[in-house]
Amino acid sequence: MRVAVLSDIHSNLEALDAVLTHARDEGAEALWVLGDIVGYGADPHAVIERLAGNALLLGGNHDLATVGRFDIAWFNTVAATALRWTAQEVSESDRAFLRALEPRGDAPDALLVHGSVVDPVAEYVTGTHIAAASFDTEDFALCFFGHTHLPVLYRSDGARVRGFVLDDGETVTAEPRSMINPGSVGQPRDGDPRASYLLYDGDASKAVLHRVAYDVEGAQRKIRAAGLPAVLADRLALGR
Ligand code: ZN
Repeated sequence: MRVAVLSDIHSNLEALDAVLTHARDEGAEALWVLGDIVGYGADPHAVIERLAGNALLLGGNHDLATVGRFDIAWFNTVAATALRWTAQEVSESDRAFLRALEPRGDAPDALLVHGSVVDPVAEYVTGTHIAAASFDTEDFALCFFGHTHLPVLYRSDGARVRGFVLDDGETVTAEPRSMINPGSVGQPRDGDPRASYLLYDGDASKAVLHRVAYDVEGAQRKIRAAGLPAVLADRLALGR
């Protein structure tokens, strides 16, 4: 089965729709989302509507904070401003949807977390030492994670952990033991503004990273019109 693995959509409907279309064209039959469905962008309700009932979904720190399950004081001013806006914007059924999300889940042959295996909500896996702690915590073969908005592979051979940045079109063999981040759909931070996601083929034990161009200006216009901090619109064009 081919699975589209998405993370950090952040209320960016233009980016999500471009990725869903790309994934369908590539033959994806299922969808796993590693959290941070909302926060930052201008379309929390429409993004939730697209995903609800159609995917294996995790909640990230932004999703949990929107419904009071994670402390808003943890966030910087811009993120907190967007979270308060999001909490006002979502419907009662959106809130019920967000309240039901967990930051960790089990897929058929992979462990899914938003942050890390050590702390599924909030820890950023930004280097090999932090990844090593996750490998040591639990005996998983394959783990997909998000939260850093950077597409990357960490691989453990038992003795040491190595990290690899993933480029557009790169194929990763999902051999034990691996931790893979699909990058961010809605707010990439590696200097490439295109949406990022992974197409995982469990039968072939491989994953391919894809970057997808989308209507950045459309997403920016909505963020500005909503009165959200301008930096949230500006950064989409930079991929930072
Ligand atoms: Zn995020």
